[in-house]
Amino acid sequence: MNHYESSERVRPLKMAFARRIQEWLGKVTGATEPKAEGETSIPWLAHKVFQDALDERATDIHLDPEREYLCVRFRIDGILRDVALIPQRHAAQFLGHIKSLVDIDPTPRLKPASGGTIYDLDGTEVHLRVTCTPTIQGEKISIRLLDPKRLRYSLEELGLNPAQKELIDNWLDSMTGMILVTGATGSGKTTSLYALLHELKLLNRSVVTIEDPVEYRVEGIIQMQVNEARGITFSEAVKTMLRLDPDFLMVGEMRDRASAEAALTASSTGKVLLSSLHSRDAAGTVTALRNLNIEDFEITAALELVVSQRLIRRLCPHCKKQCPTPPEDKQWLESIGFDAPEQSWTGVGCDQCRETGYHRRIGLFEVWRVDEQANHLILKHTDERSLRRAIRESGIPSLLDDGLQKAAKGVTSIKELRRVSSYGFGITS
Ligand SMILES: [Zn+2]
Repeated sequence: MNHYESSERVRPLKMAFARRIQEWLGKVTGATEPKAEGETSIPWLAHKVFQDALDERATDIHLDPEREYLCVRFRIDGILRDVALIPQRHAAQFLGHIKSLVDIDPTPRLKPASGGTIYDLDGTEVHLRVTCTPTIQGEKISIRLLDPKRLRYSLEELGLNPAQKELIDNWLDSMTGMILVTGATGSGKTTSLYALLHELKLLNRSVVTIEDPVEYRVEGIIQMQVNEARGITFSEAVKTMLRLDPDFLMVGEMRDRASAEAALTASSTGKVLLSSLHSRDAAGTVTALRNLNIEDFEITAALELVVSQRLIRRLCPHCKKQCPTPPEDKQWLESIGFDAPEQSWTGVGCDQCRETGYHRRIGLFEVWRVDEQANHLILKHTDERSLRRAIRESGIPSLLDDGLQKAAKGVTSIKELRRVSSYGFGITS
């Protein structure tokens, strides 16, 4: 059976690139290099897959093992889509090629492995981060694509409103303590951190970073990569970097006790620190720090500003329109204590957005300046719920408030907000 005759799951998507990949696959021979005219090779096909992923603004490529195929999926605007099915006879060679790009042993392994490389996509340098995971279906590979174009976004372009931007500017001027960008995996934390770094660079401040791994290379900023195998631990890296006497230090992510301690050490020497952390919202940040064994007094001594965020799909500017709010959206809003508007924005679907009604994503933000009253509550070991309530009562808009404002302006839809909120962000209490 011809593999693309049976690829029903791919065809209904009507995506030009999915059809193209499938067409190319038909021409792949087993050889490493094309032999006859019209034939193609696995490395060439992989290159085309990366190219399509970049053109389609995919953030990740997943290669999922199935019984007869390797399913290629792109994550575009946060949603995974099947784009091609690679028949088993080419699967091992395809996976082997991807692994060889990042120096992972190409033979199937029983242990997870990861690696990264800078890949030249016809003049654009893209950072590929490849993770191989053994599963009971076979080896699964996921590839994160880091497009340097994302670095050029300003904080406003990421979705911060003027009041939130002002809080950040004030903090940048004061040059004290620690700013944490927090959110779930894939919430755009890295992009925001780099946008902040970019602002600092514009201010002619000296900035050094400690990352594991370095995700984007930034001109004018000194970046160091943690390498445990070579003895460059977070704490060693901090010691080295502090000798450079920077104004600002960025620790890529506080993901364990070692990186959190290293960050706090830097902060306690009077350096201004930027980092990111996995948490649900601003109040959740305090819990996340406590879970890393950071004491309440250490939190209050260092933490100055929390920028919590989530990504949401933007309505397609070509086909969005206002219509009566659907009953399910009304019900949802009422169930969480908000008044439902009579009219709201929706995406109809058009050629420009491939009938999805959405195009690109934007951040929802909650920016919390940790004031004296908040410090008092943290020192009393106030639980997350009470802290969240106190933050709300002090007048700081939550992620959901920000989302509702963006839905009212037609930036996104209530339906999309409902979808994103089902993953949980501090709606009530
Ligand atoms: Zn559209």
